[in-house]
Parts: sequence; structure tokens; C-alpha cells
Amino acid sequence: MQGLCLLCTAYLAYRRGRNPWLWGALAYVLTLATPLVLLFVTRQKRVTLPQHLAQYPHCRTKRGIACAHCNSGSIQLWRNGGLLSNRDQHLCNHCGSYLYES
Ligand SMILES: [Zn+2]
Repeated sequence: MQGLCLLCTAYLAYRRGRNPWLWGALAYVLTLATPLVLLFVTRQKRVTLPQHLAQYPHCRTKRGIACAHCNSGSIQLWRNGGLLSNRDQHLCNHCGSYLYES
């Protein structure tokens, strides 16, 4: 995919009298950087439990923490931060919304 994009860009640059090496290298860099930019732009905002409780004070109940959106008390723990991450993400078991991480 990246090679095809590189060759198409270089060919189009050559047809239009531009430097095909420069435009091919530019297309290669852009196709490499695009997934990283998308990961950075769509990354989830990290919220800790004190920040979550400051934003949603009604979530602190006698039985523990409740969901801020559906008020369910069932919260599940996910460890999907990768191999190098030791952070746990707490998600609502009822509506599936992200609550906070610890
Ligand atoms: Zn919920």
C-alpha cells in the first residue's frame, strides 16, 4: 500500500515535471506518519479517580463508585494499555462507557 502510493505519487510528479524522488519520499513519510497522527488525535483522555470524582461527585456512593452516565454500580477493569503499561481502565459494565483509570 505504501509502495503503491509512493510509486503513484512519483509517477504523477514525473508526469507533471516535478522531482519524482522528492514527491515519492514525501508520500512515503506521509503514509508512515498518518497512523501515528491518527493514534495521537484519537487517543483517549486519561482521567484518574480523584479527577473523575471531582467532575462527577454523585458517583461516590455508599457501596463504592457508580457509573456517571447510567448510575450502575457494576464497573469492570480492563488492562489494555499494552505490554509496557501497568494502568487499569475502569469501564461501566452496563453501558460500556469509559470512567477512569488507575
Ligand atoms: Zn454506565
